[in-house]
Amino acid sequence: MKIIDGKEISNKIKKEIITEVENMLDKGLRAPHLAAILVGEDEASQTYVANKEKAAKEVGFISSIYRFPSTISEKELLESIGFINDDNDIDGLIIQLPLPKHICEKRIIQAIKPEKDVDGFHPENVGKMVLGQETYLPATPSGIIEMLSHAKIETEGKECVVLGRSNIVGRPMSILMSRNSNPGNCSVTVCHTKTKNLREICKRADILIIAIGQPQMIDETYIKKGATIIDVGIHRIEDSSKKSGFRLVGDVHYESAAKLAGAISPVPGGVGPMTIAGLLQNTLKAAKKSLQ
Ligand code: NDP
Repeated sequence: MKIIDGKEISNKIKKEIITEVENMLDKGLRAPHLAAILVGEDEASQTYVANKEKAAKEVGFISSIYRFPSTISEKELLESIGFINDDNDIDGLIIQLPLPKHICEKRIIQAIKPEKDVDGFHPENVGKMVLGQETYLPATPSGIIEMLSHAKIETEGKECVVLGRSNIVGRPMSILMSRNSNPGNCSVTVCHTKTKNLREICKRADILIIAIGQPQMIDETYIKKGATIIDVGIHRIEDSSKKSGFRLVGDVHYESAAKLAGAISPVPGGVGPMTIAGLLQNTLKAAKKSLQ
């Protein structure tokens, strides 16, 4: 069984980005600039943003975090996005979700200038992705595509089952896997909470991509022998044997699934680092466009 090492692949991608940034600086251009908006004090959101900032700095990008209290009004947040949209020294803007309940996420995402939408969530960019046009692909699905490519997983003509239909993972993932490209060219089935016979459908999959937010739910009983398993889920579970008192697990029960899988991405060290790599690639692309 092959372990698909997302950390190693993402390090390779980061090295390529570092070289590209150095080339930009040699040409007298400035480094790519990624801005993040963080609203409120949510601990997980703060960690995600800190990790993105760390990765951006590692590859030589400029990184700015705009922090706002959870009491900020939608109007004030829209105004701030407007300023960042108009700032020619910022190439990419991400808004850490979720936002407080009184703010409409849809309106906020639509306010980001599509050219700076390096998360690939703006409807214009989503539309382009669906149509197969040049755009920013959402970071997690695009990271998974890179992962399959680097791990040399054959996808053409294969059965791919995607568990989950969220706008940020499952839905775009299913579209990318069905594209006429490599990786891609799969016959794709999308499953969700209303799916009947989930186990039977999963057992048909040559490639099973799981993004359901259910700790360790997918075990060997869902898996066809030799299948490629991509685990997107990430959860903290209590573990008294660890100094921290917890450990990270995915939506897949790793030890059980590994008995049948042909290849599997671990948690941690699988899709997580690839998501960051996807974001960095999009930011580099945005900078190249804005600085050319
Ligand atoms: P959402 O909660 O937005 O979506 C979950 C999807 O899974 C929904 O479509 C839901 O169906 C479906 N689902 C939930 N339970 C079941 C079930 N028992 N059987 C079948 N389908 C089910 O989650 P996200 O897509 O945002 O994230 C999924 C997981 O991936 C989370 O654990 C999240 O933390 C992780 N994640 C990890 C990232 C990384 O970088 N590693 C990045 C993004 C997410 P329905 O539509 O019917 O409700």
